[in-house]
Amino acid sequence: MRSKSEETVRRGHCLCGDVKITARAAGSGVGACHCKMCRRWGGGPFMEIDCGSEVDFEGEDNISVFDSSKWADRGFCRNCGTHLFYRIKASGQHMVPVGLFDDAEGLLFEGQVFIDEKPAYYEFANQTKNLTGEELFKLFSDN
Ligand SMILES: [Zn+2]
Ligand SMILES: [Zn+2]
Repeated sequence: MRSKSEETVRRGHCLCGDVKITARAAGSGVGACHCKMCRRWGGGPFMEIDCGSEVDFEGEDNISVFDSSKWADRGFCRNCGTHLFYRIKASGQHMVPVGLFDDAEGLLFEGQVFIDEKPAYYEFANQTKNLTGEELFKLFSDN
């Protein structure tokens, strides 16, 4: 869903500053996940940038990793609790919360996934490409 030309370096950090992140090939598309796990994790939809596998962390000792499913884990700062990534185990692909980054330049809200798990009490007005959980899994198994 992202093209090479859109990739850029993005830098960010957690609330306390113990963990700093440099995503060397971050996409410019912002995605939202409405699945029950993401909403329980963060209290609302997870809004992220697909940063691929070229992600460097400073202060790695302060990162706790929660093994959240067979295929992915989730990292957070053990000091301030800021969520740092949702990571696909097989590919090392990091979905990084967009709010960590200092600069919102060029970002575009492009897609929403698990739209079928979105509760009725909120709805984004942005026009985005939306996938159900089933459609998302199908996309992964096709390539
Ligand atoms: Zn922190
Ligand atoms: Zn999710």
